[in-house]
Amino acid sequence: MIKEALNTMSDLWSLMVGLRVTKDYFLEPQVTVRYPWVEVNNIASFKGHLELVSAKAPGKPKCISCGMCALACPSNCLTVVKRKAPKPTPEEEQALAEAKAKGEKPKDKTPKDPEKFLYDYTLCSLCGTCMENCPVGALSFTGSPYLAGYSRDDFHFDLVQVLKNQAGLEGMDASVAPEAGKSEA
Ligand code: SF4
Ligand code: SF4
Repeated sequence: MIKEALNTMSDLWSLMVGLRVTKDYFLEPQVTVRYPWVEVNNIASFKGHLELVSAKAPGKPKCISCGMCALACPSNCLTVVKRKAPKPTPEEEQALAEAKAKGEKPKDKTPKDPEKFLYDYTLCSLCGTCMENCPVGALSFTGSPYLAGYSRDDFHFDLVQVLKNQAGLEGMDASVAPEAGKSEA
């Protein structure tokens, strides 16, 4: 009997403590808004998905395909596909042969920017390790919160294609299914 009375007293005390907390917060100014009817101006501090930083030429990434970001990523969500060397013209082949005969090392004329830069946003924790490990500052976070899709595949991107789209160079076919987590030669 005494035990039940003590339990009831304890429950009542707990209820009163809870009501006091509720009263304190009830009287405080409201900190949330009824989105989308009302918006707060905090977009500048929003950290969205990754994007490639453009070099001087529009649509051309600053990235040099070193693969450091993909190696450092703890979630294996990046795949950097390097460009293949262009087929030399007959004149270039002759020049190469002459240079080799003289014992000179021919210059590698393969463009450094990647063929594809595959990014699986469904795995990304936005930790920023890739950006910290990039030697040329070729990655950044977007400030856009307006990204939606119907399936997980809608969040697989080729960031090279995305950059071209942003520059108005090609159509909007930005989504590809990446085989994430490695740097391909
Ligand atoms: S932000 Fe982190 S998880 Fe996302 S791609 Fe970069 S290293 Fe990987
Ligand atoms: S984004 Fe930076 S770290 Fe990643 S491959 Fe390009 S240059 Fe290297």
